[in-house]
Amino acid sequence: MYDLTGKVALVTGAGGERGIGRGIANRLADEGADVAVSDLRDSPIGSWGGLSAVAREIEGKGRGSMPITADVGDEEQVNQLIGSVVERFGKLDILVNNAGAPAGPDRVPVVDLDVEVWDAVQRVNVRGTFLCARAAARHMIERGGGGKIINMSSVSGKKGSPRYAAYCASKFAVIGFTQSLSGELGPYGIQVNAICPGLIETERLTGMAGALRPDGVSTEVYREQMIARAGDGNPVGRIGQPDDVARTAVFLASEESTFLTGLAIPVAGGSWML
Ligand code: NAD
Repeated sequence: MYDLTGKVALVTGAGGERGIGRGIANRLADEGADVAVSDLRDSPIGSWGGLSAVAREIEGKGRGSMPITADVGDEEQVNQLIGSVVERFGKLDILVNNAGAPAGPDRVPVVDLDVEVWDAVQRVNVRGTFLCARAAARHMIERGGGGKIINMSSVSGKKGSPRYAAYCASKFAVIGFTQSLSGELGPYGIQVNAICPGLIETERLTGMAGALRPDGVSTEVYREQMIARAGDGNPVGRIGQPDDVARTAVFLASEESTFLTGLAIPVAGGSWML
């Protein structure tokens, strides 16, 4: 549908079995791109092979890939991450800033929110997005071939909710950062956009359910209730899947979207429209 043949992409936070990052990496590869994938660690869990399994999956489609472990909050590791993609593939055309701090201990009222927990969320979601985008933008400007930067925000980047203060603040920041950077990079032919998913059925739902469940309700039961409520709460009538986000990401990564920049697009089944 979109021709990304010859393009080189990097997706951060791509090692989860049911994660949005894996979904985006696969869609980019399906459209013809070589896709490097990164995550904090390359850790197989049970029968799931972790980040290396995502890289093998992409290679199985006939595309180039490489798994790279890097902490997006660490400046040196981020510069090495971008450098190793450029060294291996010769360039970087598409960066997807998908890595996100795990949901859990931050889902408490502000009066109960520890400063360390607050900082941990901002470190991954805000600092990590900044560091990766900065390193990629420096390369893209120097190379002179344009580019695409896609930042993962959330509907929580557009509307605050009780017990989501740290997360909402971080995802609002991602939108402000996206708008600012789009203005700076437009003249270089680089588009910068954000995606704002509603609730998506990934591993992180378990952490959210564990933190938000009322007393007496198990994490598993509350997770199922969250999934059902998400479907009831939007016109499409179902919770989002990683591929819903991935299909938006490949559009933003393609030449079909070159007149779009600085946007923050809800992918939320109509539960959020602004
Ligand atoms: P997830 O928690 O399943 O995956 C996030 C990935 O980021 C994990 O693989 C994790 O290891 C990685 N990561 C965490 N800290 C890192 C670090 N310091 N350096 C590198 N990698 C790190 O999340 P997901 O549900 O797949 O969501 C992906 C993105 O989409 C996140 O930014 C999240 O905030 C956002 N999002 C998710 C939802 C949802 O409902 N699932 C909704 C809106 C936005």
